[in-house]
Amino acid sequence: MLEELYQKVVAKDPAQPEFHQAVKEVLESIEVVLDRHPEYRKAKIAERIVEPERVIMFRVPWVDDQGEVHVNRGFRIEMNSAIGPYKGGLRFHPSVNLGILKFLAFEQVFKNALTTIPMGGGKGGSDFNPKGKSDIEVMRFTQSFMSELFRHIGPSTDVPAGDIGVGGREIGFLFGQYKKLRNEWGGVLTGKGLSYGGSLIRPEATGYGAVYFGEEMLKTRGETYDGKVCLVSGSGNVAQYATEKINELGGKVVTLSDSSGCIYDPEGIDTDKLSFVMNLKNVRRGRIKEYAEKYPSAVYTAIDPTLDYNPLWNYKADCAFPSATQNEINAKDAQNLINNGVYLVSEGANMPTVPDGVEIFLQHKILYGPGKAANAGGVATSGLEMAQNAMFSSWSREEVDTKLHNIMISIHKQAFEAAEKYGDPGNYVLGANAAGFVKVAEAMMAQGVV
Ligand code: NAP
Repeated sequence: MLEELYQKVVAKDPAQPEFHQAVKEVLESIEVVLDRHPEYRKAKIAERIVEPERVIMFRVPWVDDQGEVHVNRGFRIEMNSAIGPYKGGLRFHPSVNLGILKFLAFEQVFKNALTTIPMGGGKGGSDFNPKGKSDIEVMRFTQSFMSELFRHIGPSTDVPAGDIGVGGREIGFLFGQYKKLRNEWGGVLTGKGLSYGGSLIRPEATGYGAVYFGEEMLKTRGETYDGKVCLVSGSGNVAQYATEKINELGGKVVTLSDSSGCIYDPEGIDTDKLSFVMNLKNVRRGRIKEYAEKYPSAVYTAIDPTLDYNPLWNYKADCAFPSATQNEINAKDAQNLINNGVYLVSEGANMPTVPDGVEIFLQHKILYGPGKAANAGGVATSGLEMAQNAMFSSWSREEVDTKLHNIMISIHKQAFEAAEKYGDPGNYVLGANAAGFVKVAEAMMAQGVV
């Protein structure tokens, strides 16, 4: 029955492979849940959950510094609002298309359900490439983007945040334009600056959360991060704060990357070196290659499109934190990780491992935390930002970090227990999908066919 549903999803939108991949993984996991809940089958919960409640697509025209007119495409996928307002980031990257955003919105539904905060799932963005654009060009683009998006979102309707290519600078411009058009200040975006309603710890939350989730997985084997060698990919928001937290908890990070290549520093990326990376990536917007030029202990390897594996996943290590983008670990990379001694993978990125790679992790029974559980700390802290905005108050760094930590402990517990309940202990893929699905399904059952 679920195979039939999967085939229908593929037939309906054949050009959306990432969406098919995300749907397939969830449908495989929930078969066992549906067997125990015939009422979900009768109410066609699975059929309804794979269909976005609403898809918004729009033209985003803007003018560059030379006076030339450009046209990009903007999107917002409002996937599911059964348990709360749509919530999920905006991605600005040339690869963005409808299928990628539908996959991200679909993942978001289950992730948000695990956070314990009432948030539905959504995602949006544009095929705009912020790389090499001036601040003013980015501002003009984001203002044009928000000039359409503003009519679809609101603090109780849909609350976007950042994702790849959308950081503090972009959120600021988006918020300014929303406020101007609506003539009201509201918690309509998260990841805001501290001076205008942002939450402490929100920038750190996804990276910290992925490390906290890994910590909980390690605890199930009576271990800690102390002395563990860790591979991190990416060098953006998630990668930076995962590195910071791993250092704090006694581990050693030896890799980082960007879309041009990766660096390997066997001496470890300590606090000083991480400050260099943060300045390089967040202020100067340069390439990770410069790290190896600055620190002689590091080697830089440029991306080689002829290789069928990523060298970053081929170093000796204990733990891996993929924190760049989807499908960055193929089956060969997964096998390389296992061969090099990695026995913990906590996904900061969304769906960074291809299905065959996930299968390899599960077969080897390593501690494998899928993104929808392991990287939920970001959106959870966005939920905390919404709560603070609604209360017109702000919490201390310690308060937010403690809440984030407790949420990650709870997400781990839900996924761990659901994996046992549905017959495959230690399988966090099954656990996260099943626990997230049941929460959303219960809400959909209560609300009737809407
Ligand atoms: P970011 O700050 O824009 O950083 C993304 C990093 O990944 C950059 O180093 C970028 O390299 C690299 N990258 C992007 N696309 C790539 C590609 N196709 N191939 C190789 N490298 C690529 O974004 P982020 O917020 O850290 O997001 C990273 C991942 O975490 C994404 O999967 C995102 O969906 C997920 N995530 C983020 C949050 C959050 O709160 N930010 C929450 C949950 C999940 P360049 O510098 O060359 O572009």
